[in-house]
Amino acid sequence: MAYQTVNPYTNEVVKEYSDATNQQLEDALQKGHELYQKFKVQDIKERAELLHQVAAKIRERSDELARTATIEMGKLLAEAEGEVELCAIIAEWYADNGAEMLMPEKIETGANGIAEVHYQSTGVIMMVEPWNFPYYQIMRVFAPNFLVGNPMILKHASNTPSSAQLMADVILEAGTPEGSLKNLFLNYDQVADAIADPRVQGAALTGSERGGKSIATTAGEHLKQTTLELGGMDPFIVLSDANMDHVADIAWRSRIYNAGQECTSSKRFIVMEDVYDEFIQRLKDNFNKLKPGDPLDPETTLAPMNTKEAKEELQEQVDEAVAAGAQVAYGNESYDLEGQFFMPTILTDINRDNPAHTTELFGPVAVVYKVTSEEEAIELANDSPYGLGGIVFAGDADHGAEVAAKIETGMVFVNNIRYSLPELPFGGVKRSGYGREMSRTGLMAFVNEKLIIKA
Ligand code: NDP
Repeated sequence: MAYQTVNPYTNEVVKEYSDATNQQLEDALQKGHELYQKFKVQDIKERAELLHQVAAKIRERSDELARTATIEMGKLLAEAEGEVELCAIIAEWYADNGAEMLMPEKIETGANGIAEVHYQSTGVIMMVEPWNFPYYQIMRVFAPNFLVGNPMILKHASNTPSSAQLMADVILEAGTPEGSLKNLFLNYDQVADAIADPRVQGAALTGSERGGKSIATTAGEHLKQTTLELGGMDPFIVLSDANMDHVADIAWRSRIYNAGQECTSSKRFIVMEDVYDEFIQRLKDNFNKLKPGDPLDPETTLAPMNTKEAKEELQEQVDEAVAAGAQVAYGNESYDLEGQFFMPTILTDINRDNPAHTTELFGPVAVVYKVTSEEEAIELANDSPYGLGGIVFAGDADHGAEVAAKIETGMVFVNNIRYSLPELPFGGVKRSGYGREMSRTGLMAFVNEKLIIKA
């Protein structure tokens, strides 16, 4: 069975799930298609009200949701609780604001008459999501598309089936019609079959480049629209006049949150030479304070990685980086613990031909560069195949924003840790993908912007 819950803290196999059958997929496609027809004639306010009920149900079952994610993929319980609450906030935001954004818009065309653009649903959407934020990734696609009237089929990661099923159950129990979000334990061929099916009108994937390429290739073959939220190697730039207390406080959290397994984790720290030594020392001090342990225990501050394979892959990447000349400034040792813990590690002296310069390190490993000018910092930040997010620390926030404008990514935060809110667009450029989730743009991702013009 491909879908399994394995606790990465105890290595215990908690639950196994049977693979979906082709008949289950067919039933979900048909149900979704029929629901799309019903949604087309339903008042959008009814779905907005249901989204409020989804938010309420998420809050009602928040303890169970949070514990399930922690047991299944290892994140700290407090982080899981934060993720669950964010899902409720996203559902509420679309419930409160989405209908207004989907109102028809008039365009004056002078003598040509009155044009209107109507925003209409398009059909069933195939959703493929990763394990690292097992609920938030679902909600980013579910809330806007449900409001629009696009039913969804979900293929979640094979190591987070319990979280996926629980969120699907919660959404159903909130009163949404069956088929609004159908979670199925699909294999890759079945996902491709679903995308090819004429009842499906689009596919949204968050995950790796490999996964993104595969989904986009199938979708391209069948002329279906896609949004891709892929990996990142986000820069964290520290200018000479930055407030170093603030920098030190944010830097370790920005790398260690979710055990470093976040697309928008700061992965490349680009630091001006006059504050470099202080930066390294304070990052080491903060890493040194971390306490690995049971992620359900509120005293624990370092979570295990999500699987044994993920930990082994990260170790291989660190070994390759060191073999290519990187220096280990901190970490790269083993803990005497059963769970899949990776000691926070700092790598320096990364040449541009080092694999760590261009490959995403999806765990608690910080790569730190020393630069001698702001121009060099910007050039280095942009010397990446990825373009997802980034952080700039500057003494003057306006100057930080000028630097941010020169960074080739989809999102840059100045003098703050990155965060996600439903009103803000989320997504990247280059190999980090295309399209945006959340905000008005996310709402419009799979919408038919239909022009109606009366003479
Ligand atoms: P994967 O691409 O391996 O997995 C993500 C999802 O895609 C899983 O459900 C996986 O299923 C599925 N999948 C992968 N290949 C295919 C395929 N050919 N056909 C159908 N489904 C497929 O990603 P990772 O597990 O490595 O996830 C981490 C990656 O996600 C990192 O690169 C990270 O940066 C990125 N990410 C991007 C975010 C963003 O918003 N930009 C946010 C979070 C993570 P299965 O588990 O069965 O293999």
